Amino acid sequence: MATPRVERSFTEPHVKLTCRCGWSGHDDEIEEWAIEPERDRVIRRCPDCDKPVPEWGALRSIDGVAQIARGQLRESFTEADVSSEH
Ligand SMILES: [Zn+2]
Repeated sequence: MATPRVERSFTEPHVKLTCRCGWSGHDDEIEEWAIEPERDRVIRRCPDCDKPVPEWGALRSIDGVAQIARGQLRESFTEADVSSEH
């Protein structure tokens, strides 16, 4: 089991993420997001084990993220039907 972590590099434009399942990759490889309405936040999901990893950082608030969401993240909101509550 690996320790979930975030590594920033001065030489690379992307942030390197590591999941507890052993997956590691760059933040731009993340295409799945988990929406947590009870905590009003959005967190990244590991592409390998499909688990949300709060250690990678959370986006707050859901309303704010919904307004700037693009691509796959926007689709996650559409699937969760979060934005239509307002
Ligand atoms: Zn994982």
